[in-house]
Amino acid sequence: MTTPSSIYIYNSQERCKQLFKPIQDGKVRMYVCGPTVYDYIHIGNARPLIVFDVAQKYLRSIGYDVKYVVNFTDVDDKLIRKAEQLGGEWTVPKVAERYITAFYEDIAKLGVAPADVRPRVTEHMTNIVNFVGGLIEKEFAYVKEGDVYFRTDRFVGYGKLSNQDLESLQHGSRIDVNERKENATDFVLWKAAKPGEIFWNTPWGDGRPGWHIECSAMAKEHLGETIDIHGGGHDLMFPHHECEVAQSEALHDGKPLANYWMHNGYIQINQEKMSKSLGNGVFVRDLMQNITTAAFRYFMLGSHYRSPLNFSDDAIVQAKSSVERIANSRINAQHRLQHVASLGNDQAEAALSESIEQISNEYHALMCDDFNTPDALTCVFRLVSAANLYLEQVDVLEASLKKINDLFDAFNEVLGVCPAPEVASSADPEVARIELLLEERQEARRTKNWARADEIRKELAELNIMIEDTAQGARWVRK
Ligand SMILES: [Zn+2]
Repeated sequence: MTTPSSIYIYNSQERCKQLFKPIQDGKVRMYVCGPTVYDYIHIGNARPLIVFDVAQKYLRSIGYDVKYVVNFTDVDDKLIRKAEQLGGEWTVPKVAERYITAFYEDIAKLGVAPADVRPRVTEHMTNIVNFVGGLIEKEFAYVKEGDVYFRTDRFVGYGKLSNQDLESLQHGSRIDVNERKENATDFVLWKAAKPGEIFWNTPWGDGRPGWHIECSAMAKEHLGETIDIHGGGHDLMFPHHECEVAQSEALHDGKPLANYWMHNGYIQINQEKMSKSLGNGVFVRDLMQNITTAAFRYFMLGSHYRSPLNFSDDAIVQAKSSVERIANSRINAQHRLQHVASLGNDQAEAALSESIEQISNEYHALMCDDFNTPDALTCVFRLVSAANLYLEQVDVLEASLKKINDLFDAFNEVLGVCPAPEVASSADPEVARIELLLEERQEARRTKNWARADEIRKELAELNIMIEDTAQGARWVRK
């Protein structure tokens, strides 16, 4: 496969596509904000999970050594409230454990690889406390009655990620009555514990970290002071990512937190903004009962990651039928591979090789252009057409069928929309029985014993096996 030499990423901080240059040649340090584990993940969480899964898999597929870090927020107000609601034995760590286990089950259904590191806030308290301590020392932070706040007017450039200036941000903000800030735009780094709440000891009092500081501290611990790519949903750009930038750059003497910022667009349900109050949040675990991993990923990747995405029954039906077409082509290729017994045809081989090379080059060009998955999916279909055309030949070559399979596999490794069909092994007694029945049916048809041929078809149907008669003979598929 041709490996591309340059990849362009839309850098939200610069608001343009830029040539990707990693800090260290051949290596990518990537951090994406993960979920707060107080509930099951919903369809909105699924989008960044899939989008950045594809990005990191693609970078690996072209030879980068990627370290991919996605955190768990396992202590915050929502977890505290959830533990209170559940009552009894439920504590914040127990709530977190429950939903972290569920998270792993859910991402497996999304075909999302576990990240290289999944750091948890509660396991990084020393890093966080040291980070906050460093900011206090440099006077970028101040303590007020056990809370610690970041002093936004001391950090030149607060607002640069989300393209806002401090003055207009200050106009738009107000200090809540229970806050102890110097300035409306200051944000909390550490919260003093209220009676009965989970807490950690620090030199400035007992409490727990604010949300933003955890990512700065964990990215530093696992990836260093400056990372290559920082990702997350567009809704996190302000204030969460803006605050991460301020904290990290303030502590690290202006060194950038991330060289490239990637933000995925929001998701709508039937053209309405998803929100719990509208009751249209869909849990991944419920959704995945009615759709395959490949079909759901197809739906997600059918829009560019920066565009809004609309979830609707129609879109899912379309995705299902598209992946079915791809799967059929793969099943056909697989079937021919198992029954290949012929010489190829020079012209067909040459045409196939040329198509495969063109499709592969086109795919890389598209993925290298800011991970253009909607158009990359059209490459999958071009491969389907090339494969189907080739499979119409009576004579096929094993090497050519393997080329088709390899490209499908390469697409699947990144996009996850065209898994290899299950290979039926004739060592399996059930498969051996099916094959035998199929042979008997062929013989019955040859001797015009239509009654027996029909009987076998029915017998196989009861086993959920469908027979398809093709130009190259009969083949079977599981329904
Ligand atoms: Zn974050």
